[in-house]
Amino acid sequence: MSLKLEDVKEEDRGILAPCGILCAGCDTHLGEGIEAAKKLYEIWKGGNIEDIGPLFGYKEISVALKTLEKFIQMEGKQQCPGCFVGGGPSKICGIAQCVKSKGYWTCVECEDYNPNSETPCPYINHSPMPMSDKGTMMEMICRRYNKDNIKNLKLCREMGYNKFIKQAKEKVADGWRTWQVISKDKVFTEAMKKK
Ligand code: SF4
Ligand code: SF4
Repeated sequence: MSLKLEDVKEEDRGILAPCGILCAGCDTHLGEGIEAAKKLYEIWKGGNIEDIGPLFGYKEISVALKTLEKFIQMEGKQQCPGCFVGGGPSKICGIAQCVKSKGYWTCVECEDYNPNSETPCPYINHSPMPMSDKGTMMEMICRRYNKDNIKNLKLCREMGYNKFIKQAKEKVADGWRTWQVISKDKVFTEAMKKK
């Protein structure tokens, strides 16, 4: 199946990231976490939980409220249009920069991409900045997203971009969310410690 960026409509380009993460199901794109935080904040504040929480063993209730407050203040500032259209950390990510420089939509168009390898992008340069190192970043994304990104790229190869986009939109409309596939490993924390 021949895959080309030109096959993807402008308005659909934020749906899938160059590495294969489904941005359409990402909370930073959908903003559902902010809405949930606002509701919880309203309920806790309304119930003056800071007053009675410690009696029930919720000693850290003030810290939790401050965290919610900080998160809620991010509303609007954090909303991501999708990686390919300039969202997230795409400006410093080696994968996004590489894919765009080659005129692709995703890595699946690249002859060096190997979905069967633990390092699907072979260009690991052991850079002190893991995000800017495309091979390392791909390896980290595969771990963090339990290879869901690779699964998405495989589907693109099998069915073509437009059929994939249609199916992905339906999947998100049915309730699938990207956070459901994220690993519990501290992938980025570990990488930053190695710096
Ligand atoms: S910034 Fe890089 S790792 Fe993150 S979604 Fe975009 S291509 Fe993938
Ligand atoms: S070299 Fe790596 S990051 Fe660049 S397009 Fe190919 S697989 Fe993707």
